[in-house]
Amino acid sequence: MNIVVIGGGLAGMTAALLLARSGEQVTVLDRDVTNPGEGAEEAWEQWQRPGVNQFRHPHIMLPAAYQLLAAEVPEAVAELQALGAATHNMLAGAYDLPAIGGRLEGDERFDTLAARRPVIEAALGNTAAKTAGITVRRGVAVAGLLSDGGAIRPRVTGVRTRDGESIAADLVVDAGGRNSPVATMLVDIGAATPVITRHDTGFLAYSRYFRSPDGSMPAQSPWPLEHHDSISLTTVPGDAGTWALALFVAARDRELRALSEPAAWQRVAALYPEMAHWSTYGEPITGVLAMSGMEARHRRIVVDGLPVATGILSIGDAWATTDPTFGMGITMGMSHALLLRDVLREQGIGDLDKLALRFDEATESTLGPAYEATAAWDLHRLAQTDGSIAGLAYETDDQDWMLRQALEIAKLGDPDVLRAFGDVGSMLTSPEDALARPGVVDRIIELAGAGATPGPSRAELLAALKGAR
Ligand SMILES: Cc1cc2nc3c(=O)[nH]c(=O)nc-3n(C[C@H](O)[C@H](O)[C@H](O)COP(=O)(O)OP(=O)(O)OC[C@H]3O[C@@H](n4cnc5c(N)ncnc54)[C@H](O)[C@@H]3O)c2cc1C
Repeated sequence: MNIVVIGGGLAGMTAALLLARSGEQVTVLDRDVTNPGEGAEEAWEQWQRPGVNQFRHPHIMLPAAYQLLAAEVPEAVAELQALGAATHNMLAGAYDLPAIGGRLEGDERFDTLAARRPVIEAALGNTAAKTAGITVRRGVAVAGLLSDGGAIRPRVTGVRTRDGESIAADLVVDAGGRNSPVATMLVDIGAATPVITRHDTGFLAYSRYFRSPDGSMPAQSPWPLEHHDSISLTTVPGDAGTWALALFVAARDRELRALSEPAAWQRVAALYPEMAHWSTYGEPITGVLAMSGMEARHRRIVVDGLPVATGILSIGDAWATTDPTFGMGITMGMSHALLLRDVLREQGIGDLDKLALRFDEATESTLGPAYEATAAWDLHRLAQTDGSIAGLAYETDDQDWMLRQALEIAKLGDPDVLRAFGDVGSMLTSPEDALARPGVVDRIIELAGAGATPGPSRAELLAALKGAR
């Protein structure tokens, strides 16, 4: 089968690797011109990727993605390690807590490889370059789709590049990321508009990278993501003695936009004791990296039970984006690439309607719940922040939100609760399965009864911001 993949990002390149190993001929087209270059530092400092706005923002590859790569594309793991990616255990910062009582057999499932995103992409790109069956063409922007000319539900037969080249394909995979132009291209060939669900609101990220002179890392925080009044913080380890601290705030919380100033950012980071040392250990190697436009978005080409076009399937961010606070996008994209390979193996391309419907059903049933859960969390979190700005406590009777709040309080108070939380946060287990473990929900309710230890208030956060001006 001859497959064209639009976009050589994390999902597109993983799909190419999996499909080529499955015997397909894959051409990856990416509009960005340059190659990763030689080694991790060249990828970090020189590789230009205007096609991916978040390219130099902190990224954690969750354990589920690491396990997928280790099982399916071990050469990519070896390449990552050769580039300096370091083994990182998600729970390591919690083992010394008295309530947790150390590391257990089986905790290796919380291992992953830590590396800056350009290094992860370089590893996938280098592996693809050595894999038979893959052609990577950088600097080739897809400008339109080729079709069989069918007026209703056209069949996509390839792509047209910005330079006017026509490239035929048995199947086109849209891995064009959060700004994928494919929905518009489908309409251009006569297809009905895909269903696009989009939240108008969203979050802003303000992140900063650091490096130690001797390759050492700051002590790991008990869990890498903390939610506080009006702000969430996440610690992101990298390769070669680098790491980042990312601060996430509601986009409509205008007062917090002053976080783009390095002095204000540093002062705010210092307010949160579990993570403050991630902003003082070592030296900053970037200014404050700001990113907006991170709303949850979901595109579906199956409308009213039928695909708007056949011969094209979307994966990764081109299908749906999730709140980056939870660091799930790489894992979702790689899992989606694996699902694509498996559905293609099962269905083939003999009946393209059937393929589109089966892939849609598999996507929505396996990855859909994670998208829905983060989108729901976003709405609550934004409403909670609105309440905080207005000086009102946020109240809702949504049981899922209340359980998530309880879990946040309980996660470091019990070894089984921590592992249930860790399995879900690492995308190894669904929340339903983790919470179904004997005694876990009871223990969460018991521990949450004690209430959360209050962190810095919004007033303290704003005072720190103003103090820096
Ligand atoms: C601030 C921020 C922080 C994040 N942190 C994390 C994290 O910690 N962990 C995590 O797992 N995820 C994180 N994410 C999410 C993650 O970045 C995405 O989920 C991931 O990049 C999706 O991969 P993708 O391959 O689907 O899309 P992308 O990586 O965006 O790749 C799309 C590719 O398509 C190419 N392209 C687009 N249009 C065309 C065209 N017309 N022709 C040819 N090529 C085209 C682009 O050049 C690009 O290379 C974060 C996101 C943001 C915004």
